Amino acid sequence: MKATPPLDRIRARTIRDENGCWVYTGHLDPAGYGRISVLGADSKRRGKFTHRVTYEALVGPIPPSLHIDHLCRNRACCNPKHLEPVTPLVNTRRSPISTGSVNAAKTRCSNGHDFSPENTRIVVNRRGRAERVCKACVRIRSAKYRRSLANRERRAAPSKAVQP
Ligand SMILES: [Zn+2]
Ligand SMILES: [Zn+2]
Repeated sequence: MKATPPLDRIRARTIRDENGCWVYTGHLDPAGYGRISVLGADSKRRGKFTHRVTYEALVGPIPPSLHIDHLCRNRACCNPKHLEPVTPLVNTRRSPISTGSVNAAKTRCSNGHDFSPENTRIVVNRRGRAERVCKACVRIRSAKYRRSLANRERRAAPSKAVQP
């Protein structure tokens, strides 16, 4: 007999409130987070947080170094849109987080470059949130900056230009 996938079990016990939260109405731990027991690949059952289950099922794997922050502040909420992986170290600018898991739904940067592992760097922004940075965009920006600097120097010293 096939077990019901954890995601379906969570959905069956979830109600949507006026904020768009998927409020889990099953078992909550003392802190107010939804808990569900999940059968692992090793056939052992273990307790998991419901919001981690929905995030991993609908968005992607969560690196072990990150925890999930509830943007809506409703700990029983399992709506992946209200969840964001963050580093526990809020003031760290950069941390060695594996790529491909942050904002996993987005596959391209705002300029259309691929968020491939080679083209992506994960940085931690001032709010302590992991953020993907497109390396191609950084290259383009720094090339533009160098060009504008060179132009400024040329304009600043036209008399020194060597005549042929
Ligand atoms: Zn929510
Ligand atoms: Zn880009």
